[in-house]
Amino acid sequence: MSQERFDELRRRLAEVSDLGKTMALLSWDQQVMMPPKGAELRAEQLATVGRIAHERFTAPEVGRLLEELSGWAERHDYDSLEASLVRVVSQDWDKARRVPSELRAALTREGALSHQVWVDARSRSDYTAFLPALRKNLDLVKRYVECFDVGEEPYDILLDDYERGMKTTEVRVIFDYLKAHQAPLVQEVAARNGADRSGPRTFPLELQRRFELEVVRRFGFDDACWRLDPTVHPFASGTGVGDIRITTRYAEHNLESLFATMHEFGHGLYEHQVDPALERTPLARGTSLGMHESQSRMWENLVGRSRPFWHHFFPRLQETFPDALAGYDADRWYREVNAVEPSLIRVDSDEATYNLHIILRFELEQELLAGAVSLEQLPDEWNRRMWEYLRVEVPDDAHGVLQDVHWAGGAIGYFPTYALGNLISAQIWDRLRADIPTLDDEIAAGEFESLRDWLRTHMHRFGRKVSPPELLERVAGTPTIDPAPYVRYLRGKLSGIYGIAPEAS
Ligand code: ZN
Repeated sequence: MSQERFDELRRRLAEVSDLGKTMALLSWDQQVMMPPKGAELRAEQLATVGRIAHERFTAPEVGRLLEELSGWAERHDYDSLEASLVRVVSQDWDKARRVPSELRAALTREGALSHQVWVDARSRSDYTAFLPALRKNLDLVKRYVECFDVGEEPYDILLDDYERGMKTTEVRVIFDYLKAHQAPLVQEVAARNGADRSGPRTFPLELQRRFELEVVRRFGFDDACWRLDPTVHPFASGTGVGDIRITTRYAEHNLESLFATMHEFGHGLYEHQVDPALERTPLARGTSLGMHESQSRMWENLVGRSRPFWHHFFPRLQETFPDALAGYDADRWYREVNAVEPSLIRVDSDEATYNLHIILRFELEQELLAGAVSLEQLPDEWNRRMWEYLRVEVPDDAHGVLQDVHWAGGAIGYFPTYALGNLISAQIWDRLRADIPTLDDEIAAGEFESLRDWLRTHMHRFGRKVSPPELLERVAGTPTIDPAPYVRYLRGKLSGIYGIAPEAS
């Protein structure tokens, strides 16, 4: 009898999952293919599919099935599909049912509409044009928070959507550690002679694309399951383990797109290596955004900015761009791609300053939510803190408050996961190196199979069966996010490049 009820639950969840993937596809299309005039109708289409998915998921019958099945599910193995599905979906259901479907649809609609407003406003650096859309989104987010029992920290509700179970106070403690230990590192480096900077040069776009594909194909991108397309703000998406779509953003005068592509490959690989038996359930994706970001940052930085990596790929890079890289060797290039320089744009920032960009956003988001900073004050507040944290002057809002896509989509509470991901990546990397002693040699030979397999076995295949702390425990040996390994890693790397002390004094 219970088995039949479980099958009924699965059937219902499979429909919700299909609707969710349909939304992902509509949204991918909006950001990659759709002409701008399609935006208004697309917002309605997304809102409709989103509302139907929300109504199906929060239906009382789903709640009844979950309740009936709870005892039966607990008698199964913790990692079994039966136990995991009922356990995780019960939490999801309990959160989702508090949100009226009309509000859910409004959040989706405004998010999609604002996206186009943001693209236009950013291209003209016109914050005033974006302000009304941002206000609508912020008001909806506040209404969303009010659906729950808000404790001392309304921000907890939002953070939990992206990093299950994480509390604002925990993030604050971690970020205070970074302010005390990572920020001084940036100052130490700034006092040294910078890396050998080159003048303006050109990397033809078609060649960039060809080189990137060569790299990610070595990583494990295969054309039967993956796509790579250009977009405004790079992201990874797809409809299942056999349909992974990554995007990047090209510029003629630098190779940022290469690093964006490696980054998005890391996200894509996590989704690609989820156990296929979980498909069409809410378990078939990465367990949290922080965990996801640990994967993207690992491929982008721990692999893609490492000496062994460039030992293998630099000769090909130079062959591809002989004019731009005339006079370079692998060592000079390694120093350049690891140069530390406080800068305006988060996604282009280096490993040492990146987390400071996040701390700024984390603080502003809480103040926006509490009304301590108004939307009118936001650009000035942004610029003031950029100076305080990074000592850079913001020339215009396109390079300041308008640079990120997130707030246009109503995504508040998302940013901290980027910094958490950086920290987690170093925790996992320590474990990985212990388990695969030949890792550096393999990377230097352009071989990534054992790295990929290790990630699948220890991490990716579980999907959302386990919570972020449970997964961290399995993959790194502790349930706690620890900022120390990341700061240690950074200091070690920068001591080799800038000659700062290898250990903190
Ligand atoms: Zn990412």
